[in-house]
Amino acid sequence: MRISPDSAVLGAIALLFASAFPVAADETIALKAVRLFDGKSKTFVQNGVVIVQGNMILDVGSNLPVPSGARVLDLGDATLSPGFMDAHTHLTSDSSGNYNLTRLQRLELNVSEQAIRATVFARATVEAGFTTVRDLGSGLAASREFIDVALRNSINKGVIVGPRMLVATKGIGATGGHFDRTGGFRDFLFGREPDYTDGIADSPDDVRKAVRFEVKNGADVIKAAVSGGVLSLADEVDTPQLTPAEMMALVDESHRLRKKVAVHCHGDQAAREAIEAGVDSIEHGSFMKPETLRRMKAKGTFLTPTLMAGEWVMSKLDNYPPALQEKGKAAVAARSEMFRNAVRMGVKISFGTDAAVFPHGQNAKEFKLMVDLGMTPIDALRSATSSNADLLGIAQKVGTLEKDKLADIIAMPGDPSLDITATERISFVMKEGKIVRNEDRAQGR
Ligand SMILES: [Zn+2]
Repeated sequence: MRISPDSAVLGAIALLFASAFPVAADETIALKAVRLFDGKSKTFVQNGVVIVQGNMILDVGSNLPVPSGARVLDLGDATLSPGFMDAHTHLTSDSSGNYNLTRLQRLELNVSEQAIRATVFARATVEAGFTTVRDLGSGLAASREFIDVALRNSINKGVIVGPRMLVATKGIGATGGHFDRTGGFRDFLFGREPDYTDGIADSPDDVRKAVRFEVKNGADVIKAAVSGGVLSLADEVDTPQLTPAEMMALVDESHRLRKKVAVHCHGDQAAREAIEAGVDSIEHGSFMKPETLRRMKAKGTFLTPTLMAGEWVMSKLDNYPPALQEKGKAAVAARSEMFRNAVRMGVKISFGTDAAVFPHGQNAKEFKLMVDLGMTPIDALRSATSSNADLLGIAQKVGTLEKDKLADIIAMPGDPSLDITATERISFVMKEGKIVRNEDRAQGR
């Protein structure tokens, strides 16, 4: 085929492609730093270089030659890393303030106003270095909206800036359980009992229907509450809330639809039953006994410890009603030993924080809590990169700095293996080849 040499036509074609594909497909960027963490190795690469072309990583290594014409960004005494992933966020809400005020506000604000606020939380999260999140539950009492789906889609389309999101829509749970958003309110205040469209399910068939309904409406992952929780008013923190038959239905239906299952679970009995049912991750896990952790290890189930959530509640106890204070204290008292045991036994650990319980953007504070409870800094970094990519089922695209992966790359000052709090001072963020944050523009040459 012959193409007309008419430059005006070619210019128009170029313009058309430029607008259709906002990523400058041919721009090559060479990122350099004193250290590089590839997401999986036990040691850092010295004098790290990542060559990015368009949205992809072209090459990674030590002292790589810079291709001619490439833009060089030398970040100096910093550590390059794959973008962090948080396996447990709630980007559509912020419940870090006074519990009762937050609860009232959720009833007062229009859903559209809450969605606008969510765009701010999404930006804060990606600017903190979290280029991917698994968002585990977004629902408002008496609302049929799917804010998390809208947020994910708007980010994917480039309308707003935020992390790649895998969303769970409504959490699935039992009547009166942790996810029953009408719990603690006057009976029938909202005019009806919640049903599968709100994630509430009370039989194996109901659970299947809820899973199908969520996938129909855009869920990437399924979340359920199999035990009680800290921040819910009508339950005890560790009681089982789904039956083994309901959990089997949950896992079977989700896996048939190729969706992974994350379960909110503090109690030991519920955890044992969920692990046997084949869930992919246990969220929180506060009261899990060593025998339960052994089953997790044998089955390859991930633990997402969300240490930050407990830490925040304990630091702001006055924000919570007395009954919730007691539940929070009990969960936090148990979880430190549980987490130490899990690390010692080699249970797979995914980095996840429960952001929304604390202000969005502070996710990286989880690293120090993990390290303080016995995890090595490198293993903590791996949990937030390659391990989470495995758990989320996206390891073929992201999670490591390797040739042909998407260019999700961050940098932090200094050496996080010597001071893990370097993760809290992210200075550079690139998502799919686009620079989201660069505090060191002067060094770009
Ligand atoms: Zn949560």
